Amino acid sequence: MSLNNETIDLIAKDRQYLWHAMTPYNEQVPPMVAVSGKGSWITDIDGKRYLDAMSGLWCVNVGYGREELAKAAYDQLVTLPYFPLSQSHIPAIRLAEKLNEWLEGDYVIFFSNSGSEANETAFKIVRQYHQQNGEHSRYKFISRYRAYHGNSMGALAATGQAQRKYKYEPLGHGFLHVRPPDSYRRPEGMSVEEFNLQCAHEIEETIVWEGEETIAAVIMEPVITGGGVIVPHQVYMEEVRKICTRRNVILIIDEVICGVGRSGQKFGHMNFGIKPDIVTMAKGLTSGYLPLSATAVRKDIYEVFKNKAEYSHLRHVNTFGGTPACCALALKNIEILEREKLVERAYILGERLAEEMEELREHPLVGDIRSFGFLMGIEVVENKETKQPLPLPAVGKIIAECKARGLIIGKNGDTVAGFNNVLTLSPPLSSTDEDLDFIIHTFKDVMKNQ
Ligand code: PMP
Repeated sequence: MSLNNETIDLIAKDRQYLWHAMTPYNEQVPPMVAVSGKGSWITDIDGKRYLDAMSGLWCVNVGYGREELAKAAYDQLVTLPYFPLSQSHIPAIRLAEKLNEWLEGDYVIFFSNSGSEANETAFKIVRQYHQQNGEHSRYKFISRYRAYHGNSMGALAATGQAQRKYKYEPLGHGFLHVRPPDSYRRPEGMSVEEFNLQCAHEIEETIVWEGEETIAAVIMEPVITGGGVIVPHQVYMEEVRKICTRRNVILIIDEVICGVGRSGQKFGHMNFGIKPDIVTMAKGLTSGYLPLSATAVRKDIYEVFKNKAEYSHLRHVNTFGGTPACCALALKNIEILEREKLVERAYILGERLAEEMEELREHPLVGDIRSFGFLMGIEVVENKETKQPLPLPAVGKIIAECKARGLIIGKNGDTVAGFNNVLTLSPPLSSTDEDLDFIIHTFKDVMKNQ
């Protein structure tokens, strides 16, 4: 790659001043410096174009370059740039109403800035809720290994990936983990349905073994995304819902990636026909244009906070959570999703992607292909019999070759636990048919040479 002088200068300054997220320092590989985006495509500082099949970090759902989103934020910024949500403002009221409509339930919305904060908010609400119901010992949370729920000390404690926690522990106290319903790696001789039921029952066993009266909530994504796109069977989600109800445990569904259209339904959990008690969301809520997240809480849980006793209200605040411009932009983002029928489009694009990728199952390195709406995980292995994960350098080579050909894809897993072998795709929901052709064609072509 030949770099011009401006690029060389910027990269030197990047090296000097910027600390990159989740990226091992590598003198040889300069960071990609993006300058603009339109639709599913971004352009870097050297004018090279890439189809961003990861929508940034699974977030740019309506695609890049939407002027009406910038305008919605601008108009709000010049009208009222800031007001705290200890009181109220119009965009927050309208957005909370809209989210309630999208959630098809009776929820009250608390706004924050990030997915991590949305989950932290949920944890605090849950603990206080049980306290106020007189159930003082219910403080523990159950989540799954391989899940990701955020970077803060509570959300990271809920996370089930060793690589994310390594060297940062001890984290928040009271977080337990159970087996994810990874059907590809189920025990031999067991059907997918049996295995999924067993995984769900492991949650109930954990509740019983820990003492039912100590468990506050279960938190899970509808589909584990960042941990390798692990799609549960219908029976798993139904059973988890029943267990939580039976054991008086709150079910928090983390929709930070799956929510707001990505799954081909408004929210991921709707694909399973279950009703969560709390829903957290971020990313696609603003398509990543501005930071905003939400914790949607079932109305009757909220009612418990109306108690008149001292310290009964939620004593939790984010200075920037739900600022007017972020809420105005989110409303416009949802308007675009509705107007352009992008939720339905996610379903259609996802179906086509899954169909066209199906033939890759014959590829010697492809162990499994899993999809949910318009997101996909392709698990690559070096041996299809043993399912031994493809080593990281070989996985990295596939990603680098896609990038050299103008296609950005992702990778997920857990390096500390010995696998990092699920290639991921999560393109903008606004992708055109030609964009999808490009993704499929480029990826298949790259795989031919592996
Ligand atoms: N939950 C899930 C499922 C996520 O994928 C993420 C981020 N990738 C988070 C929570 C945390 O979100 P944030 O990075 O906005 O804090």
